[in-house]
Formats: sequence, C-alpha cells, structure tokens
Amino acid sequence: MLNSVTKGFAAHLQSVVPGLATRDPAMGYLEEPRGSYFGQAGLVVAPGTTEEVAGVIRAAANARVPVVPYSGGTGLVGGQIVTDGPLPLILSLERMSAITAVYPDENVMVVQAGAILANVQAAAEQAGRLFPLSLASEGTARIGGLLGTNAGGVNVLRYGNARALCLGIEAVLPDGSIWHGMKRLRKDNTGYDLRDLLIGSEGTLGVITGASLRMLPRPSHYGAALMVVPSPRAALNLLGLAGEQMGEAVSAFELINGMGLQFIADTMPQVRQPFAEKPQWMALIDVGMSGAQDPRHALETLFETAAERDLVSDGLIAQSEGQRRDFWTVRESIPEANRRVGAIVSSDISLPLSSVAEFITRAGAVLAAMGEYRINSFGHMGDGNLHYNVYPMPGQTKADRIAEKPDIQRTLHDLVHAMDGSISAEHGIGRLKADDLQRYGDPAKLAAMRAIKDALDPEGIMNPGAVLPN
Ligand SMILES: Cc1cc2nc3c(=O)[nH]c(=O)nc-3n(C[C@H](O)[C@H](O)[C@H](O)COP(=O)(O)OP(=O)(O)OC[C@H]3O[C@@H](n4cnc5c(N)ncnc54)[C@H](O)[C@@H]3O)c2cc1C
Repeated sequence: MLNSVTKGFAAHLQSVVPGLATRDPAMGYLEEPRGSYFGQAGLVVAPGTTEEVAGVIRAAANARVPVVPYSGGTGLVGGQIVTDGPLPLILSLERMSAITAVYPDENVMVVQAGAILANVQAAAEQAGRLFPLSLASEGTARIGGLLGTNAGGVNVLRYGNARALCLGIEAVLPDGSIWHGMKRLRKDNTGYDLRDLLIGSEGTLGVITGASLRMLPRPSHYGAALMVVPSPRAALNLLGLAGEQMGEAVSAFELINGMGLQFIADTMPQVRQPFAEKPQWMALIDVGMSGAQDPRHALETLFETAAERDLVSDGLIAQSEGQRRDFWTVRESIPEANRRVGAIVSSDISLPLSSVAEFITRAGAVLAAMGEYRINSFGHMGDGNLHYNVYPMPGQTKADRIAEKPDIQRTLHDLVHAMDGSISAEHGIGRLKADDLQRYGDPAKLAAMRAIKDALDPEGIMNPGAVLPN
C-alpha cells in the first residue's frame, strides 16, 4: 500500500534534504502535451544535486510515497502524469540541467539529466560535433526523459535511438542508493547492463540523474528532398534505392500523407505547402555528407533513377538550407495540425519494414468496415515506425466520436500484433498502453520485467502504474 504525500511528509523532506526546492504543481506539471487529461500531485520538488535526489528517494521509500520522475513533460503516453491513486511526489530534474563536460577527442559529452535536448545539440555543435537525437519536442524534452523513454525521432535510421547514443548513466535507485555508472567507455562487458535496463524504464526503476552521451562527426553538407510517391510500397522501394546510392548518408526518410498536408492547410495556413496540388503520399529524405560529396547532386541522381522505375512522379530538391528547413517545417507541423483537428485514436506502431505498406492497406480496409473516418498515416518510414491516426469526418469533433476509441484502438493493435509489429515504437508504454502491454506482451518477458521491478523496487514507489500494473 502506498501513501499520499502529506503535509507531515513534506515537512520531513525539508528536514532530511535541507533547502530542497519545491514548485507549484499548477505550473504545467500536471498537463499532458495533447491537453487530453490532467494529473494530480501532492508535491513537486526540484532537487539541485544527485545527493538531494537520493535523499528524496530514501525518504519516499521509507514513507512508501509514490515518486514520478519528471523531465520535460513532453511524454505522449502518460508516464509523467498520474490521474488517480495516492497523491504522488513529482521529482523534477529541471534544476540539474548542466552540460558538465565535453570531450571532442573522445566524441563524448557528459550532462546532467535535466539538460534540454536542444542545448545538448548546441553544445555538440560548438565542439564541431553532432548529437543526432532530434525530435519536434527538442526545445523542451530533457535527457532524463529522453533516456527514460528511449526516444526515437527523425534520425534513428542513421544514428539509432536514445539508447544507441548513451554510453553511461548515473542514477538513483529505488532504495536511494546512487549508481555511479557514468562511464565514457564504448566497451564495458562487466555483467548485467544496468544502463540498458534503466533506458526505456520510464521512471519505474529509478531516477536517471546524469548521462555520458556519444557525439558523432558532423557532416559538412546537408541536403533534403520531397519526392511524390504513388504508394507506401513505392516509398519503401525508394528508401532501398536511396540506401543503395547514398549508403548511410541517408539520415531520415519520413512518409507524409496527403491528409496530413490537408490538416496543415486547414489549421496552420501560414505553413507553405510544397506542392500546388497536395499529393496523396510523399517522402521527405534528408542526407548529410562530408568531403567532396554533393547532397544535391546525389538527390538529383536518386530522383532520376527513381523516376525511370516509376517510384516517383514529382519532386523538390532543397536549393538552400532555408528550403531544407521549410521541408522540415512541413513535417514537424503535422503533430500540431493533428492536435488541432483532434484524433479519435493516435498510434505509435512499428512493423517489419516490408509489412508497412500491407499494414496501411489492411488497416484502411478494416476501418472502412467500421465506419467513416479520416486517416493520417505518417511517420519514420525508414524505421518501420508509423503514426497511424484516426480522425472524425469534417463537421464532426473528436468528442462526437470518442466512444469509438476503444474499438478502433483494439482493432489496430490486434492487426499490428498479428503482423509481428510493436504497439509502441518510440513513445513508450506509460500509463496509456500499460493494459495493451499485458495483452500483447510476451508472457516470459512480462514475468521477467515483474521480477526485476519487484527486486529493485520492493515497495513499488517508482512511478507506480506506469509500464506494469500496480
Ligand atoms: C510535439 C512532440 C513531438 C514528439 N516527437 C517525438 C518523436 O519523434 N519521437 C519520440 O520518441 N518521442 C516524441 N515525442 C514524445 C516525447 O518528446 C519523448 O517521449 C521524450 O523522450 C520525453 O522526454 P521528456 O523530457 O519530456 O520526459 P517526461 O515527459 O518528463 O517523462 C517521460 C517519461 O520518462 C520518465 N522520466 C522522466 N525523467 C526521468 C529521469 N530523470 N529518470 C527516469 N525516468 C524519467 C517519466 O517518469 C515518464 O515516464 C514527442 C512529443 C511531442 C510533444
């Protein structure tokens, strides 16, 4: 049994962690990014050091008070938002935001967990390096949350997800002990990998307080193209061709749907549409090259070969960095336009690459049999990761059709499962998908996860209800 934060507990915290900073819960800590629901908190604290985090966790474990680690608050599966049960303690990493050290010779950077992703990217750039993790929430999301969710984003195709970019972690475990795992090693086979266990654990196994991160050589020239494709299958073939011609220079390959472009036109008319007539499908391809290689020329060659094979019917190749940014503005406006239209169901799924096109066809057919919907299916095609989102018809609101949500979600996830995919590609499980994980997860894996959770967090104080049921 867990206990709510009480006035007595808050006073006790101040005595065991003197000077501990607190925050007003109403200052954004209880809001979900899509505005779909609100959370609750007994107290929000913002420790300034790892030792203070340890003091807070020790006190919470003794009093059996639930703790929710909180970084940027941009998580999309409710991992940082508690809507019921005992009033939790929200532990914000916002004051631990320093870039502690940069080692250009090692291609390594050491940061505190509250470092904002955009600042980490900027520090790498200042050192002439690249920190390639990139997502639309990068101005707010913090390293602790990005590692906590094993975030993906647009460059996974080339550089991997957050896990692939992390060499070491410092964390406070659920009993309040500090694990000093912030090594800068690329090879370290010394038993079970606690780092990999904490990455993606969504605050259920401890609080990440710092990390050593990989930096990479910075490509000297970037290029981007928007190519109109006749179908998702053609997009996949185009991706294969891009890989053949440009190898690992292809950093991102995003699939964009005409419905997404229409939503942008309807809700964000200030965003410039790339084509006079909105295509049904297009791909945004981003490349980064070094030395004498010329991205624009490489993309032109790709377009010519693809046109000969009927994989593309129209295209734009960015003639400047400004135009490249315009292309990305279109892609990154899609989540906001989606939010303004209001989805009945949003999803974050992945499939084997060769099944993506078939999934889009089959899901469309199944949904058509259930009712009339608008579908915006887009995402990180290069990673087999789709955001397959379902909307009400024009003239209707999300509220008019929200009762259909459980059926639609179940139908989509059943299909994903049947096609050997994943119900969470990059956002995590949080609270929104905890039931789905029980439904679709492998029983042996679920049992091992439960055993790990019980061993490391016997009181169950760390983010209860997220990932695993209470
Ligand atoms: C507009 C928009 C675009 C997005 N695009 C993408 C995308 O392309 N790819 C993608 O993967 N995600 C995306 N997201 C989701 C979100 O940005 C990521 O999940 C991100 O990693 C969350 O980081 P955060 O700092 O905001 O974490 P929070 O929201 O604060 O927390 C997320 C989870 O991590 C846990 N956590 C937080 N801090 C710690 C810590 N220090 N130690 C342990 N656990 C911790 C929390 O308890 C919670 O369970 C997007 C979100 C928005 C709003």
